[in-house]
Amino acid sequence: MAIVEALESTDDRRRLQVRSPASLEPIGDFTCATATEVQVAVAKARRAQQAWAARPIGERADLLWSLVDQFVKRQDDIVDSVLAETGKARSEAIGMEVFSPCDAISYYAKNGPKILATQKRKLHGVMRLSKTLRIVYQPLGVVGLITPWNGPIVLAATPLAQALIAGNAVVHKPSEVTPLSALVLKSLTEDAGFPDDLYQVVQGDGATGAALLEAGVDKVSFTGSVATGRKVAEVCARQLLPFTLELGGKDAMIVCADADLDRAAEGAVLGSCMNTGHYCCGTERIYVVESIYDEFVERVVARVKALRQGDRDEFDVGAVFWDRQLSIIESHMEDAVQKGARVLAGGRRNPDLKGLFFEPTVVTEVDHDMDVMTKETFGPIVSIKKVADEEEAIRMANESEYGLNGTVWTSDTERGIEIASRIHTGGVCVNDMTITYGIPEAPFGGRKSSGFGQVNGPEGLRGYCHAQPIIADRRGKGKIQGGYPYTRKNEDGMQKFIRMLFGTRVGRWMS
Ligand code: NAD
Repeated sequence: MAIVEALESTDDRRRLQVRSPASLEPIGDFTCATATEVQVAVAKARRAQQAWAARPIGERADLLWSLVDQFVKRQDDIVDSVLAETGKARSEAIGMEVFSPCDAISYYAKNGPKILATQKRKLHGVMRLSKTLRIVYQPLGVVGLITPWNGPIVLAATPLAQALIAGNAVVHKPSEVTPLSALVLKSLTEDAGFPDDLYQVVQGDGATGAALLEAGVDKVSFTGSVATGRKVAEVCARQLLPFTLELGGKDAMIVCADADLDRAAEGAVLGSCMNTGHYCCGTERIYVVESIYDEFVERVVARVKALRQGDRDEFDVGAVFWDRQLSIIESHMEDAVQKGARVLAGGRRNPDLKGLFFEPTVVTEVDHDMDVMTKETFGPIVSIKKVADEEEAIRMANESEYGLNGTVWTSDTERGIEIASRIHTGGVCVNDMTITYGIPEAPFGGRKSSGFGQVNGPEGLRGYCHAQPIIADRRGKGKIQGGYPYTRKNEDGMQKFIRMLFGTRVGRWMS
């Protein structure tokens, strides 16, 4: 049964119905915005943005704090809507969709004004005698925000807070799988007192997303799959639009011989199964050195078998959010088993539950000729491979078209950091599952097929601005040096000056 289905429509606008992946019952429907409606939203956003950008950044920060207040006050509304749409575990809805956005929005409310304050930058050499430089962070205008279904609130609220504090307006196209959570986020911004039209939600599927890219926005912030990311990049490139792409991953975990095995096993299970494995930085392949392999696998299997899955009051692993993802998970498992992988736990759709549930799974004897070790599975699968040593683990971790994040587990933190720096990936965590996106100070973004550009942190925040250099002459009067008329005398003087400045020790010290 499809989670998102077309309904009959009385006019030429498309209507989609959404079901809960846990109960399979319909939970809502919506009308896809037409291309014209998307254009109108962008035009309204542009008008709202001009007044917004003119407000002092302190006032913009105050409104972000009001948004945090709404998150705190309306936690249950957020959790209820996320649970209805995704069937994820309640702890995950609270941690990922309430705590993380609150933390990120607070960070930008508190630090945004400092990060975006006009900077005076000292000039080098002789130029400093006559010029001053200021960098002014100007908003770009209207940001087109396109988000996926695996973190419907956090993946929208985090870029939203950055775009808004920087003085932009946002038109948001949420995933067609999780349209309701976006409406909750919109109502939080309304209750927080944000101006009308500053943040708008346009509902729809890929066609609506494609329309947003063509609707005259000034920047695109996209999170989603590699396949869609490539299309977004092409459309943005044609229009010379700045964009960031946060895409899929196949994160590697390296377990060194000296790792704390209990902690590493816990990290493997949580990293692979959290959010039903629908975590862009989820652990998708684990390389374990030979000497501790058996002990590690035993600990992982025991933990996975103890996981509670379901739609009851308390459970650990929830539903697969979308039937399309379930098909991918099933096909990767089938491919692995057919090529000789061993399933030590789970390995199939849960026969006891009505909804879309795939059992938490442990699979070993896996290799790089299998989809489960090379393509993004995005399911609750712990895939473990034995390697001779850490060197082989690093080599295998780097043997991937993806490079989003990864983890290293060892008792020697410094060595862990050294290994981490040799992994060709966007970020790495040592002795923890990947929490990079949850650390607002850290720039976040993938390498290779996992993305383009970075979000979060000072770098990501400034990405919502144009850094405008303003250079002023200290004197501002009299003749401009080096100006007309050009004379042989001045040219000789200039050449002498070049010899002195760049050709002598004293000159180089001054330059
Ligand atoms: P998706 O690419 O199918 O869809 C993402 C969004 O793009 C949706 O809103 C969709 O409607 C829209 N879209 C589809 N076609 C479009 C088009 N032609 N033009 C514009 N928009 C279009 O991805 P998904 O299945 O929703 O999300 C899962 C993927 O997202 C996974 O690969 C996951 O790893 C990735 N992801 C990455 C990060 C990260 O930060 N790197 C975070 C979360 C998820």
